[in-house]
Amino acid sequence: MDLSYTPEQEATRKTVRAWLKQNLPKRDRNDETLEYGDAARTAKAKAWQRKLYQAGYVAMGWPKQYGGHDADVMTQTIVNEELVLARAPGLIGMMGVQMVGPTLMKWGNEEQKQRYLPKILTADEIWCQGYSEPGSGSDLASLKTRAELVGDEFIINGQKVWTSSAQFADWMFCLVRTDPAAPKHRGISYVLIDMKTPGITVRPLIQMTGDAGFNEVFFEDVRVPRKNLVGELNQGWQVANSTLAHERNMLGSTTRTQQMFNGVLRIAQTRQRYGRRAADDPVMRQRLADVQIRVEAMKLHSYRQLTDAVKGRPPGIGASVNKLVSTELNHDMASLAIELLGSYGPLARNAKHVNERGIWPWEFMFTLGMIIGGGTSQIQKNIISERGLGMPRQ
Ligand SMILES: Cc1cc2nc3c(=O)[nH]c(=O)nc-3n(C[C@H](O)[C@H](O)[C@H](O)COP(=O)(O)OP(=O)(O)OC[C@H]3O[C@@H](n4cnc5c(N)ncnc54)[C@H](O)[C@@H]3O)c2cc1C
Repeated sequence: MDLSYTPEQEATRKTVRAWLKQNLPKRDRNDETLEYGDAARTAKAKAWQRKLYQAGYVAMGWPKQYGGHDADVMTQTIVNEELVLARAPGLIGMMGVQMVGPTLMKWGNEEQKQRYLPKILTADEIWCQGYSEPGSGSDLASLKTRAELVGDEFIINGQKVWTSSAQFADWMFCLVRTDPAAPKHRGISYVLIDMKTPGITVRPLIQMTGDAGFNEVFFEDVRVPRKNLVGELNQGWQVANSTLAHERNMLGSTTRTQQMFNGVLRIAQTRQRYGRRAADDPVMRQRLADVQIRVEAMKLHSYRQLTDAVKGRPPGIGASVNKLVSTELNHDMASLAIELLGSYGPLARNAKHVNERGIWPWEFMFTLGMIIGGGTSQIQKNIISERGLGMPRQ
């Protein structure tokens, strides 16, 4: 493992930093969250992704033929680090860029790649993920949304739930049951659904953060062309798992975790607790040391993953480790920040005596969702123990 940067990599970092200084949109409270609600906010977020793409900083690792730059892993990492350090708004089309895009590159046919990939990059088409159903979350393969192949069309009936961004998404990558008689993992297909198709109803659900981050989606005789099938009929489980591995890596960002830690440390160094700087309080010092050790361990784990990626080694269970460790750590740090802020710490964004614009209670609730979304911590532990450590299946 080589922890130093080459002169070229340092130059890239400087270029990205300078570009961000010039181009970062003026921030408002909403940019700090990843949720999108009203049309103006969605338009602003799309414009930001487009600008970033035009500058060459979206999906840099994608092949040139699909709109990427064939950039190496280190360049992508440097750009991502700079984006997070500059506190740039997240990509509104993140599920396209980080989940369905890479999946289509592996499993899609050429027509699908040409049709969908360019619009993912420019945020002209936003995607949502139709996996979970009432009763099928951790046990995803038990999903019941039925797709019947009639001639050249699937006719889809059923319901999805917790579908993030469905209220403004243009497309959904969706798991449907195409063979109810087959064993549960073998009767599933992966289809792409235009969200404007008649028969689709989207109902927003309000999360405890107060944002409508996710939705219920109902399908009543929704007709989807057979050409929207990705991979083989009834082989969607393999395709779905490709997407899930990308999702876990997306949710486990080390840089965001480090940035959160810096925020917690800043509070500890500037706020008072029992008549002295909070950072000098022995109990708080111990709590800070605990999270800092975990942040450092996570950083070193990510370097190990980076080394694997640079050397072309398969990622193994690293994505699950990332997801498990970072989401729990982020939640613990939000909790610590609220405690450091004292009695007013838990006040929400619109409260009169709110601290730090209410971002920490928001983070506390949001990160709890992240522990669940993309496969809960318990499920990640099952994956790590069974596939990583070779322990017996439960
Ligand atoms: C913020 C957020 C965004 C989301 N976005 C999307 C989205 O865009 N698209 C989408 O399809 N889904 C989305 N989800 C849904 C998410 O994938 C599911 O909530 C998750 O997989 C858990 O499923 P469940 O809620 O049905 O819980 P359940 O599966 O019912 O689990 C309940 C509890 O039992 C535990 N448990 C279950 N099985 C096991 C086991 N085998 N071993 C040990 N413990 C177990 C779980 O860990 C959990 O604590 C989102 C969820 C959240 C919170």
